[in-house]
Amino acid sequence: LKKLFTLCLLAILTQSFAQEKSISSEADKYFELIRPEFKGYLAYNTVAFVEKYWRYAGNTGFNETVYLIERKLKEAGYINEEDASENDRLTYRIESRQMGRPTWEPVDASLRIVGERSPLLLQQTNRNMVYLNSHSTQTEAEVVWVKDVNEITKEQVEGKIVFGEMSGRKLLNVAVKEMGALGIITFDMPSYLQAQKNTTSIQFRSLAYDRALQPWGIALSYEAKERLKAAFENGPVIVEVNIETKLYQSEELTVVANVRGGELPNESLVFSAHIQEPGANDNASGVGAQLEMATITAKLLNESSIDPKRTITYLWGDEIISTHRYIQEEEKRIADIIWGISLDMVGEDTEKTGGSFLIEKMPDPSAIWTRGNDKHSEWGGSPLEKKDLMPHYFNDFIISMFKKQGSYANWEVNNNPFEGGSDHTPFLRADIPGLLLWHFTDQFYHTDNDRIDKVSKATLTNVGTGALASAMVLVNGDESTAIAMTKLIQDVALERLKIEFDLGSSLIANGESTKEKEVDIIETWAKFYTDAMQKVVDLGSSDAVSKAIDQASAEVNEFSLKLLEQVK
Ligand SMILES: [Zn+2]
Repeated sequence: LKKLFTLCLLAILTQSFAQEKSISSEADKYFELIRPEFKGYLAYNTVAFVEKYWRYAGNTGFNETVYLIERKLKEAGYINEEDASENDRLTYRIESRQMGRPTWEPVDASLRIVGERSPLLLQQTNRNMVYLNSHSTQTEAEVVWVKDVNEITKEQVEGKIVFGEMSGRKLLNVAVKEMGALGIITFDMPSYLQAQKNTTSIQFRSLAYDRALQPWGIALSYEAKERLKAAFENGPVIVEVNIETKLYQSEELTVVANVRGGELPNESLVFSAHIQEPGANDNASGVGAQLEMATITAKLLNESSIDPKRTITYLWGDEIISTHRYIQEEEKRIADIIWGISLDMVGEDTEKTGGSFLIEKMPDPSAIWTRGNDKHSEWGGSPLEKKDLMPHYFNDFIISMFKKQGSYANWEVNNNPFEGGSDHTPFLRADIPGLLLWHFTDQFYHTDNDRIDKVSKATLTNVGTGALASAMVLVNGDESTAIAMTKLIQDVALERLKIEFDLGSSLIANGESTKEKEVDIIETWAKFYTDAMQKVVDLGSSDAVSKAIDQASAEVNEFSLKLLEQVK
């Protein structure tokens, strides 16, 4: 009898375990479906195709990328919206818009010092040498080395080319626009690009389009800058500049692909990857990873391995602009956006580029008090205020998903406080949870050495797999997911409070912080997480969910009160 009783108890326990979903077990289900499919070939091959072009909205490379995406979406089973029936769940459209300015693309360029045999720079080997929006020119003129832009005189620079180790904007305005110089040559590289080591790197630069002035500019590598400076030792320097670019009217294209939800089609998760910019990692990698994600979603849906409840949208376009517009243009969307994720610089071979994979969190208290293990990337961020906080479960959920992929694939996963600057910002500005998946520091960021040899198929696979598995948990989320999410947030909240308490205690002991400040920090984190718990109803709501939230909030508050007493 006793044995039977034990068995019964076991049965009941097992059953209750089976009913209580954890985020981790939900995640495993989708990871197991996605991992055998995600091999990174499509992502990598897409990067290899896209990175050949210097992409700018409306230009050849941008549009060729759009057409490649369209071909691959079609092959995967996505149907053009115009030809789709109501039953089609995989659809796409290409939006086309008149541009307010001409598009631009570089064709050829060279810079030579007259009297020296080898050219200083060639477009073929330094494709970022020409400032974006530069007009074509062919000229030979003396170079004036400018040390201080505020001391330039007209007599000094008129009809000549100015060179400065500074940003080009002011130099162009003063020397070219006001004083009649022919054009600018600059050297301007942030220190994290390690110009003295990566001597051929040029970080791309741009001028404002100016039809009347028809300006041009050349950005130098460290190596070219040193050679040019050395030439001044032998007297006046004359250079020969050849720039051939194209500026022409075009249309701006955006690709929108939808996997329509079966149950709640009006709620969606949106992925966004920008096409423009010349690099392989920035952002042919996001374009490629997202394309493989979209094709795998289609395959799994077509073979009935998944049946997403909510809609998944894949966007490819012009950074921030396309995403912002998509969020604003409600009438064109089939669904309200519940979550947004930007894929930008997601293919780094970190052995070569440095840095690591990062999840940039939506604003949480680590963006106010950046300390302990929290740190900003070298891209940089400025401290936020409490009013900027966006309490949500999204940060910790995505971090937990990528940590899973990280431990599975022995891959380093880190996160950073909010900084901005990519396709997650338009979501946040519209009060929609938004995150960035990226890498930093990348010592080739925005330089012409950001090419396919810096891209890793394994990284593309890890990011794409983590992103798609995360999407699956969210779009299929229900009441039990909401309860599991509450538990996850409770766990990370308790962990965070303890970390801040320990850190604060030692800072107070060393006289580096005050009790008032530490009380504020603990209270802010506790409130952030109890507020975050309220958001799980995005996934599903019921009395049981409300109860779980109340209970978890109470535990977090109780723990924080205990810590606060100790601080005081
Ligand atoms: Zn980017």
